[in-house]
Amino acid sequence: SSNMAKSKFEYVRNFETDDTCLRNCYIVVRLDGRNFHKFAEQHKFAKPNDDRALGLMTRSARSVMEELEDIVVAYGQSDEFSFVFKRSSTWFKRRASKLMTHVASQFSSSYVFYWKEFFENQPLLYPPGFDGRVVLYPSNRNLRDYLSWRQADCHINNLYNTVFWMLVQRKGLSTTQAEDRLKGTLAGDKNEILFTEFGINYNNESAVHKKGTTLIWEKRDETVIKRTKLPNGEEKDMPVTRSRRRVEAYHCDLIGEQFWEEHPDILED
Ligand code: ATP
Ligand code: ATP
Ligand code: MG
Ligand code: MG
Ligand code: MG
Ligand code: MG
Repeated sequence: SSNMAKSKFEYVRNFETDDTCLRNCYIVVRLDGRNFHKFAEQHKFAKPNDDRALGLMTRSARSVMEELEDIVVAYGQSDEFSFVFKRSSTWFKRRASKLMTHVASQFSSSYVFYWKEFFENQPLLYPPGFDGRVVLYPSNRNLRDYLSWRQADCHINNLYNTVFWMLVQRKGLSTTQAEDRLKGTLAGDKNEILFTEFGINYNNESAVHKKGTTLIWEKRDETVIKRTKLPNGEEKDMPVTRSRRRVEAYHCDLIGEQFWEEHPDILED
């Protein structure tokens, strides 16, 4: 307030450091759940993939996109979510700490707020936390490679976890035995174990687990029936169509060209 601004204490503001993000760069904020290995165990997450937990992560990310400005795409898997601000954003004067803390706190409070919608019978035992970091990407290629990197990570972990938990749950191996069995195996070997020992074709596993979740803004025509008064005084139900922007979720490949060709508005030149 104005009376504060003139106090002799005001000089301490000069101790604040400048953290303005470089112009023209995409600003990526990535969040990751704090100690979620333990959080998953204590809240009885299904192994290897708990769909309630994934649904809650996506719901919280949707809240971040809807409540904050200028996020054009978000990508999540496991206990992490990345949010990409458009390169021309001037939100909070591009101050890294403001952007990152707004994302982290909106996400964390949403995670708690929506918990019951996804975990009806499982009480939340303690307040979860998320760390955040900011990374700048100067080109579309760099940004796409960033998202490809996170999706490749999702794939590698999911393939490993799928075989690992099959060996434990179906073959009765201990976790140490399953670890030893998988030591040094390549993707092909893991696919082979899944197919020959469990009759599972990894390609047929669910897309949300293999590919993670991508959120983007889409324009949709929405038609609602509205009671309208006609000039002759009569009331009639009439269809009214308007274009609405909403967040849509995809579980598709981000590494190839197709997704980016189908959604040319996400990246700017
Ligand atoms: P910004 O998002 O920029 O911080 P703001 O609306 O939060 O906007 P602040 O300068 O942080 O603006 O001021 C917080 C405001 O919240 C106060 O001006 C007051 O209106 C309200 N507020 C906060 N705490 C209390 C409280 N304990 N009792 C009554 N009002 C409060
Ligand atoms: P850190 O605080 O360093 O991030 P962490 O325990 O959160 O430690 P991560 O590498 O982030 O370690 O791994 C997250 C862990 O959370 C996974 O290994 C898995 O055990 C668990 N997890 C997260 N989401 C799910 C889910 N949907 N289903 C089952 N387990 C999950
Ligand atoms: Mg981590
Ligand atoms: Mg974590
Ligand atoms: Mg993680
Ligand atoms: Mg405030």
